[in-house]
Amino acid sequence: MAAYYNDTTIMYLDGQLVKSSEARMDYYSQSLHYGYAVFEGIRSYRTISGATRIFKAEEHFERLQRSAEALNMPYPYRVQELIEATYAVLEKNNQQDAYIRPLVMAPANMSFAPNTESHIVIETWEMQPFLGEKLLRVMTSSFQRPNPKAFKIEAKASGHYVNSILASQEAKAKGFDEALLMDINGFIAEGPGANVFFEKDGKLFTPALGNILPGITRATVLDICSNMGIAVEEGQFTLENLKQADSVFFVGTAAEVIGWHSLDQTIFPREWEKSLGRKIQVAYKDLVTEKIESTANI
Ligand code: PMP
Repeated sequence: MAAYYNDTTIMYLDGQLVKSSEARMDYYSQSLHYGYAVFEGIRSYRTISGATRIFKAEEHFERLQRSAEALNMPYPYRVQELIEATYAVLEKNNQQDAYIRPLVMAPANMSFAPNTESHIVIETWEMQPFLGEKLLRVMTSSFQRPNPKAFKIEAKASGHYVNSILASQEAKAKGFDEALLMDINGFIAEGPGANVFFEKDGKLFTPALGNILPGITRATVLDICSNMGIAVEEGQFTLENLKQADSVFFVGTAAEVIGWHSLDQTIFPREWEKSLGRKIQVAYKDLVTEKIESTANI
């Protein structure tokens, strides 16, 4: 396992900067027992000017609030206060290219009754500047995404990630890099921690909202495409549609933009270097490092 923290690492806990190794949580928390918590996955980057920038900070903290509200969790935090707290944690830990993990937790409560307070932590750890060029071998998962009538699927809730863990572990145990999950109607949905796009005949396709996490990278990619004049269709697509694609890629805060080599036994024919995904990968990297200021300048 990676070393997420050591004796000197600082994190934010309920308004204070504290040592990660000394912070305490409640073993009677509803979050620990029932997976009733919400979180975010954010990245900061060292930009070309040398500054540290949290990418899409407002969007992530606004989604954290929507996730908490979707689960009826008290949420007394303001976006700007949490962004400032995150920059303070990054500075204390001397980190620029980092992964940022805010988590909102419930207090001690073994019943299913709502709470009158929440706890918040913001943890950060070092991350490689920009992930790889390595193409993924993906497996069609035997696990579906959760039923949107059983969960608030648009919320980034901790409990949903048991589904992601099962799918990802299954794929890796079978020798693949990652899983692709279908929705409850059998249409393609997303990966355990990333949204999916595919290219066919010069156009991109991606599952519509409804059965997927509304990814912030997905929204950024849609924005990049509209500025680059790349047509994108959002809809319901089958595994057959996907297997006939020229090229496929995952998008997500941690995954960034990463191409696929294959799905099960099907190898995608378009060379990654010549794909639309590669163009978007380059534009995304330029955005996060502020080589270009906004998608309007693409
Ligand atoms: N789907 C799932 C299930 C995820 O966990 C993530 C990662 N948060 C994504 C998609 C991509 O979302 P984002 O681009 O906001 O990181």
